[in-house]
Amino acid sequence: MKKTRIAPTPSGYLHAGNAFNFLVTAALAKVVGAKVVLRIDDLDAERSRLEYVEDIFQSLEWLGIRVDEGPSGPTDFRTNWSQQLRLERYTALAEELRAAGVLYPCTCARPRFEQMDRNEHPCRTSKEEAVAHGTPWRLRIPVPCTVGVKQFDGTTSALDLPALLPDPIILQRDNARPAYQIASLCDDLEMGITFIVRGADLLPSTACQAHLAQLLKRDTFAEVRFHHHALAVDADGSKLSKSAGSASLKAMREAGTSPAALIAQATAYAEMLAKHFRL
Ligand SMILES: [Zn+2]
Repeated sequence: MKKTRIAPTPSGYLHAGNAFNFLVTAALAKVVGAKVVLRIDDLDAERSRLEYVEDIFQSLEWLGIRVDEGPSGPTDFRTNWSQQLRLERYTALAEELRAAGVLYPCTCARPRFEQMDRNEHPCRTSKEEAVAHGTPWRLRIPVPCTVGVKQFDGTTSALDLPALLPDPIILQRDNARPAYQIASLCDDLEMGITFIVRGADLLPSTACQAHLAQLLKRDTFAEVRFHHHALAVDADGSKLSKSAGSASLKAMREAGTSPAALIAQATAYAEMLAKHFRL
């Protein structure tokens, strides 16, 4: 069974760029006969807000997107679907990585970490055994490391992981909370996702998750097909103007704007993709 997902984060109001991603995902699902799962990524409980969760449901309705699987509303989401209910699953995967020796504790403050070259980062090679409770653990990305990611037409593109991403945090500082990369991978694996449409800003994450799946020997992930689109693109593939891309859907709804233009744009893009990849 083909399956894809719409995976918004409830840490702000959705904007036209999100709408574009959701609409393209839904349109392609229709073309290939795939189910659409709604997965609200509320891993970061501190930034997650009820009004943003409500905005997700209102936006999907406004855009005319119907999902086949997932929460029916904010209450069902909180009770049955929140990622907060799945933390143990994510932690178990992270612990597999830690046991495999591919994670390392990093005590560097973020600005310092970001300034350092990978080769100069002392934590990467530190042999220190005693790790203070609450220390974040990062993934040691090997150099070199080429990761294969499957495209919609079944061809594989080779991504240079170390060039795309600094060593990501897998277990966060606060009570060893699992981080985005591992949670997203875990959910995609367990939900049986077969294709993913993402903004180009998530290409480094795709490469990272493909690498994590290899380390964890979760081979089915290598079959997942990806398409990365420009963050908000016009029907001809050109970038939307910044103002159009950043307007919140809520503001558009309240102003009485019709979603027709957004829908037309995304549909045209999905049709172009379907033709290009002969879906
Ligand atoms: Zn460090």
